[in-house]
Amino acid sequence: MRINERQLEQVDRQIKRILRSGNYYSRVYEQAGIRGVSSPEDFEKIPFTDKADLRNAYPLGIQAVPDEQVVRIHSSSGTTGKPVIIPYTARDVEDWATMFARCYEIAGITAQDRIQITPGYGLWTAGIGFQAGCEKLGAMAIPMGPGNTEKQLQMMMDLGSTVLCATSSYALLLAEEINKRGLKDRIRLKKGVIGSERWSDAKRNYIARELGIELYDIYGLTEIYGPGIGINCDRQHGMHIFDDYLYTEIIDPQTGEVLPDGEEGEIVITTLVKEGAPLIRFRTHDLSRIIPGDCPCGRAWPRLDTIRGRSDDMFKVHGVNMFPSQVEEILGQVDGVSSEYKIDIAHDDLINRDIIMVTAEAEGRVDFAQTAERIRQLFKSRMNVTPKVVIVSLNTLPRSEKKTQRVFDHRGD
Ligand code: ZN
Repeated sequence: MRINERQLEQVDRQIKRILRSGNYYSRVYEQAGIRGVSSPEDFEKIPFTDKADLRNAYPLGIQAVPDEQVVRIHSSSGTTGKPVIIPYTARDVEDWATMFARCYEIAGITAQDRIQITPGYGLWTAGIGFQAGCEKLGAMAIPMGPGNTEKQLQMMMDLGSTVLCATSSYALLLAEEINKRGLKDRIRLKKGVIGSERWSDAKRNYIARELGIELYDIYGLTEIYGPGIGINCDRQHGMHIFDDYLYTEIIDPQTGEVLPDGEEGEIVITTLVKEGAPLIRFRTHDLSRIIPGDCPCGRAWPRLDTIRGRSDDMFKVHGVNMFPSQVEEILGQVDGVSSEYKIDIAHDDLINRDIIMVTAEAEGRVDFAQTAERIRQLFKSRMNVTPKVVIVSLNTLPRSEKKTQRVFDHRGD
């Protein structure tokens, strides 16, 4: 799926607008001699943009319109240093709502539905995005925000909420509460729209079963509007991404080479019409692949596969790229082992070799030494590396709702 004529024209317009604006990227492009694009080859020469750049431009260095056109800002926290501030014009807000309403429609949600929104409102993009899409669709928004489980359950029952929007962790917590209190017969939920993060099938199945709902993964990030730029349809085979607003590429995170459809790599997104803070070739650090071919649902929007982790967790040993998804596949085959893991890579100067250590969790009922050996064998046969394996008890490794780092490369430390 290469960039098409219409998208190229849109990128060309974006670059010219950026150059006229005198913003942070206008200086980057001027220095690189970029004045526009007229072919896919031109496009692929445009340097990537990254979160680190956006921090350099703090607070409003990436704003590409005059102040009077900015109607709102959002901010992504980031784990280190300064936050990133993204300015939106009225059109950006409108476009985001349009995409989000499409997401609801793809999930089979209609104006008849009552949508309970539990992600947070405020500087970050979550709650308000869910709300704007809901209003655009014509459904009833129940803008709860996070926390206060007592009240969440009360409103869910009294108003007969039919859709729950939540992070997977909060959906799990609500499912557990409903189960514990025996409220299942009193709730009317049919569907759950869950902010996309890496979550286990076990968690997904539990939530779907306990709440008796169908689950949809919604994709997005603050730098690119926010959540609602893509969602999976009921065929459950990838998330449709709206290519009239965004152009998506998959690259090799280490070389930056663009990969063909079907191959796994880092998602890179170009905003085609965004005004307040247009971003060209933004590196998301999310790993996935473009699913080749057409979706059985008949929608023409291209599809991204489930997010398979972070490119920061991709590692290279003996010149071969290794993906977190491969590690998960291996662990998934070993009895009693959880999906959590940690990998440390170091270089042993004495023997001049890379040493890989895998830490995995296992249930107390299994033999740790045998489990370690099984994992070691699977790594050897599947990935052609022989790690040292350490097994720890369940719930020992750190958990986080969002983007946990699992791979630590100490080579060159
Ligand atoms: Zn589909």
